[in-house]
Amino acid sequence: MSSEDIVIIGAGQAGGELAAALRSLGYDGRLTLVGNEASYPYARPPLSKAYLLGKCSAEELLIRAPAMYDQQNINVRMNTAARSIDRKAKTVTLSNGEVLSYSKLVIATGGRPRQLPVRELSGAANVFYVRTRADIDRMRPYFAPGARLAIIGGGFIGLEVASVARQLGLDVTLLESQQRLLARATCPLVSEFFRRIHHEEGVDVRLQTSVQSYLVGQSGNVETLVSDGGEHIRVDIVLVGIGLVPNSELAEAAGLEVENGIVVDECLRTSDPAIYAIGDVARFPDAGNGALRRIESVPNATEQARTVAETLLGRPRPYISLPWFWSDQYDVKLQIVGLSDEHDQVVLRGDLTNGRKFAIYYLRNGVVSAADIVGSPQDFAVARKLVAAAAVVDPVILADTRITPRDLSRMVAAVA
Ligand SMILES: Cc1cc2nc3c(=O)[nH]c(=O)nc-3n(C[C@H](O)[C@H](O)[C@H](O)COP(=O)(O)OP(=O)(O)OC[C@H]3O[C@@H](n4cnc5c(N)ncnc54)[C@H](O)[C@@H]3O)c2cc1C
Repeated sequence: MSSEDIVIIGAGQAGGELAAALRSLGYDGRLTLVGNEASYPYARPPLSKAYLLGKCSAEELLIRAPAMYDQQNINVRMNTAARSIDRKAKTVTLSNGEVLSYSKLVIATGGRPRQLPVRELSGAANVFYVRTRADIDRMRPYFAPGARLAIIGGGFIGLEVASVARQLGLDVTLLESQQRLLARATCPLVSEFFRRIHHEEGVDVRLQTSVQSYLVGQSGNVETLVSDGGEHIRVDIVLVGIGLVPNSELAEAAGLEVENGIVVDECLRTSDPAIYAIGDVARFPDAGNGALRRIESVPNATEQARTVAETLLGRPRPYISLPWFWSDQYDVKLQIVGLSDEHDQVVLRGDLTNGRKFAIYYLRNGVVSAADIVGSPQDFAVARKLVAAAAVVDPVILADTRITPRDLSRMVAAVA
């Protein structure tokens, strides 16, 4: 038997994936997965999509069958929070008072929704945030046809909830303080496309609008939001989706380096060589330019878990991965590959003003560095290849929809 004793804090996407990966790679030492939720690890993406829509059950959210954890001798502690880490003694103290010792510790604590600065508004019974299954279970009974839903924040979660709400017949107003939707994630062309789609589906999208105050009724519920323009918006439910705060306090209290997430090296090791961090909470160096990044996505959590599993088993390898992400809204699937934040050219393939299918390629110094694809898995498959290969493609060819995705792929392969 291995003398290693691995403890994972956080039984979410990354923690669950890591536990399974360690066993499948042959780790036979003690393995404990500590999670403060009342569930085995489950997938969060369906929460704001099929689960809220009522088209997916709680069981279907589970990443792996519960029996797997017993079969693989993974000691899962549910409803249990890690309270502190003693790095000298190499122990973790749990909320039930138990003390676990470790030889290697992995922190996979994810994040929590950023709260509105208005404290009372956050505390009202009809104001919701979305991160956990329990959040959706609490919110779902309010999703009745005709109910007036105000969404604060035009990011992915706000837009996905707007899509579900419209499909369920709610009356939706979405307030975004910035000039455009999805401002952190994409370019203005794609933002404008999603504004159009939501408008077509009946969402009242208000850009450059924030909540200044609110009025609470006798029930204790928020009944009216007052915008910074002075408009009174009557509401039955409020959903706040204004970003994520990494759960890094445990690491910070243990003296690990923390700066908008737990800072790790290319092998996802923290400033303590016995402790690693993965998933939404980890801020890691970009393999290309070394800049520290935190990525909030399932592929990132999953691939970091697999990378760290190898490292823990004595085969250290740097985390090098091509970021990708998706979002489903109405009948529209958006797929993103690469990071578009440093582009100097945007190439449109298709028509943005009509229909629901197009591709946007981001170029940097002529190299394809990222792409946003809507409604075309074939284009996405090609885009992944182009970004992975750091391909140099003539923008005129990229934009030409007479050239099929397959031909585009062949042309690039020929010059690569
Ligand atoms: C509504 C929603 C929709 C999403 N949609 C998409 C999508 O379409 N595509 C995509 O790629 N990504 C999507 N994401 C993001 C994706 O789910 C996350 O990137 C992923 O879950 C990150 O995994 P993680 O393990 O780092 O964090 P989590 O999955 O959040 O897991 C962290 C776990 O640690 C627990 N924890 C925290 N502190 C402690 C403690 N002290 N002790 C014990 N346990 C603790 C948390 O409660 C949680 O259970 C979505 C997220 C949400 C919320």
